Amino acid sequence: MTAGERTSRTGDTGRTGRTAGLRITADRERCVGSGMCVLNEDSVFDQSEEDGRVVLLTDTPGPEVEATVRYAIQWCPARALSLTED
Ligand code: SF4
Repeated sequence: MTAGERTSRTGDTGRTGRTAGLRITADRERCVGSGMCVLNEDSVFDQSEEDGRVVLLTDTPGPEVEATVRYAIQWCPARALSLTED
């Protein structure tokens, strides 16, 4: 099974398994493609090769990357990223 085939505990299929109650939302309309989020956590954030805007590799990051995800969200210059907790 690849990372992309794992199923979350809520039943939806994500690109990685859901191991924490965190959910990221990315507003691609606000994103300015700075890439800061990718520099901070490239297992969660990527950039589109077409427009340079953020692409989430998973919207339910595990606890092992929580600190770097929070840092990336805090320092997004466009305030395009947000985090909610279940
Ligand atoms: S840090 Fe913010 S503006 Fe920069 S690529 Fe990521 S989401 Fe877009």
